[in-house]
Amino acid sequence: MSELKVVVAGAGGRMGAANIRAVAALSGLALHGAVVNARTLKLHAAVDRPGTPAIGQDAGLYAGIAALGVVISDDMDAALEGADAVIDFTAPAASVALAAKAASLGLVHVIGTTGCSEADDAAIATAAGNGAIVVKSGNFSMGVNVLASLVRKAASVLAEYDIEIVEMHHNKKVDAPSGTALLLGEAAAAGRQIALRDHSVRVRDGHTGPREAGTIGFATLRGGTVVGDHQVILAGPSERIELNHRAEDRTIFANGAARAALWAADQAPGLYSMNDVLGLN
Ligand code: NAD
Repeated sequence: MSELKVVVAGAGGRMGAANIRAVAALSGLALHGAVVNARTLKLHAAVDRPGTPAIGQDAGLYAGIAALGVVISDDMDAALEGADAVIDFTAPAASVALAAKAASLGLVHVIGTTGCSEADDAAIATAAGNGAIVVKSGNFSMGVNVLASLVRKAASVLAEYDIEIVEMHHNKKVDAPSGTALLLGEAAAAGRQIALRDHSVRVRDGHTGPREAGTIGFATLRGGTVVGDHQVILAGPSERIELNHRAEDRTIFANGAARAALWAADQAPGLYSMNDVLGLN
């Protein structure tokens, strides 16, 4: 059985700690009870930005588990030496820079970072075309990706219903709408065979006039320590459907990212989504 050597980027962050715990805890044979492949994961290195408090600490202790003998460093190039994969939940500029490095080294690059602009996504797609095996998703949980399939179906069948997406996250989150809300919006748009960017309403304020038919609305709530709540409402004449997902723990994203890394290790270079990993396409 071979080992997949994984670098956790953003190791000092909330998701970084969850990713360290997932890589340490999960073997390739037991993810979600399904055999993914015959590899196990090994934490090869953990990195964050210079000056963050996590630098110099043992990755396991920092993440609240036993010591792993891997010190969190701020030297990305050294961390990538000899690695097979990077699990990256950082910030858009960091993920774009890392994608170029992953391409030059032919690495698996699992990207959970949200808030990427169209230019960031284009740069990541270019890296995938240049040799990186990229899996990028606004949400790595099984539940949200299954929910997205349901949303796509409902949006297609209930073609005249108004679609609104409501999300709530903790008060430290820096981007809005969330990557998951946008993922669900893309699923709804795909069900309607329209482009989300031409039909989304991100903000309503003042005298807005009546709702424009065919749009997909977003509402953003922030507060406390909420890991991530999402609701997709399909409102029609005299009835509405409400599809909900509540994330209770970051483990669901970290387990999904670990599963994606194992899956990607057997793929050709290119840009993939969690739908590809889960076979939902
Ligand atoms: P966080 O702020 O707690 O952690 C981000 C970490 O990245 C920080 O420690 C920061 O110092 C580090 N970082 C920033 N730039 C870096 C660089 N150039 N090199 C190395 N490290 C760098 O945030 P978080 O809550 O852990 O979330 C991180 C990202 O993941 C956000 O974009 C968030 O929206 C996203 N997220 C995605 C999913 C998903 O399933 N896709 C789930 C949860 C969060």
